[in-house]
Amino acid sequence: MPVWSQAGLTDEQIAIEEMAAAFARAELAPLAPVWDRDKIFPVETLRAAAALGMAAIYVREEMGGAGLSRVDAALIFEALATGCPAIAAYLSIHNMCGWMIDAYGSAEQQRRWLRGLGAMETLTSYCLTEPGCGSDAAALRTKAVRRGDAYSLSGEKQFISGAGAGGDAHLYIVMARTGEPGPRGISAFLVEGAAPGLTLGANERKMGWNAQPTRSVTFDDCRVPAANLLGREGDGFKIAMAALDGGRLNIGACSLGGGRRALEAALDYTRQRQAFGRPLLEFQALQFRLADMATELEAARALLWRAAAALDSRHADATRLCAMAKRIATDTGFSVVDDALQLFGGYGYLADYGVEKLLRDLRVHRILEGTNEIMRLIVARDLLEERNA
Ligand SMILES: Cc1cc2nc3c(=O)[nH]c(=O)nc-3n(C[C@H](O)[C@H](O)[C@H](O)COP(=O)(O)OP(=O)(O)OC[C@H]3O[C@@H](n4cnc5c(N)ncnc54)[C@H](O)[C@@H]3O)c2cc1C
Repeated sequence: MPVWSQAGLTDEQIAIEEMAAAFARAELAPLAPVWDRDKIFPVETLRAAAALGMAAIYVREEMGGAGLSRVDAALIFEALATGCPAIAAYLSIHNMCGWMIDAYGSAEQQRRWLRGLGAMETLTSYCLTEPGCGSDAAALRTKAVRRGDAYSLSGEKQFISGAGAGGDAHLYIVMARTGEPGPRGISAFLVEGAAPGLTLGANERKMGWNAQPTRSVTFDDCRVPAANLLGREGDGFKIAMAALDGGRLNIGACSLGGGRRALEAALDYTRQRQAFGRPLLEFQALQFRLADMATELEAARALLWRAAAALDSRHADATRLCAMAKRIATDTGFSVVDDALQLFGGYGYLADYGVEKLLRDLRVHRILEGTNEIMRLIVARDLLEERNA
């Protein structure tokens, strides 16, 4: 019996989930500790995931995508994260970037980029955060000035996931200011890895997510063809935020996957570990803790699937539900892993038992794609607006 319920899923969804879970078991879990220890970004493994449709999950089929729903994507990211949350999370960002081009790109941009992204011949990065602003993203200062048939970009992006990994075959979606202060003065650009004037910072030393690089990306009079403007001038912030609705679900699903892996590990461990002459699993206090871990994951999963369905149907509450789901799924996944670590006793603290890596990987999900405080801000703003309407 799986430690989570498949109730309500179609046979096709169960098959999709099993495909991703099998990939996680065979291709991710065995090597994840080495990638983490040696800071290896396994591009060939990502391409193998792409061959199964997991690099363009909700891009349209005619554009080389799998044409699946956000609920399907949630199943896939949760399953992948049981093998390695850091790799699942990079795939989640890559999927978000592909969706931005599918949803807002010109026919020429879609033709030029989407198939390569779906095969992961081209890797992508989402570039919003800057050294001076993260949560207050609308205050970003990277500038894009039109010069003839091109824009000149100048500024610095901070904490960019996956940056540099594709070399020249890398596409950066960069939010930069083309107009007035605030969100309406921001535009989005497709910047190729080989663009002159683009330089990468060192791979950051991090607490977790060591299987994927995080770098700053600097633009110094970086020339980008005007044809690489994504959407219209001034649409950039809207596009970036729309992408994050889905990105937040993906990251939340990755946290559920890490939590699920920890729950499975804790069940196995407490069955075989003895204390006071019997297996740990026979102590009711510990059974209750395991029951709570499973229950809290189910509760968060239910909200996440509801938010995914709202996004699929473009419901007016989708942004609010995505923010709620991201907050609860990332907090729950982390606390379930922490509970599992406690059940392992001292061994949970050792690298060889795998739970501490889950804890390190999942910690950042409460910070990125909008911190969990910003998720509360979105929900509260929505509630207050409705009261004042
Ligand atoms: C490993 C990693 C990978 C990342 N990958 C990417 C990426 O690929 N692309 C990208 O663009 N960014 C990325 N980020 C950046 C991430 O999205 C930001 O770190 C995050 O949005 C927070 O911004 P900040 O770090 O500037 O914190 P700040 O905005 O300085 O916030 C600091 C603290 O203050 C709180 N706070 C801020 N404003 C408020 C408020 N109004 N009310 C209450 N609390 C508030 C925050 O919640 C936080 O706890 C990544 C970050 C990390 C660590």
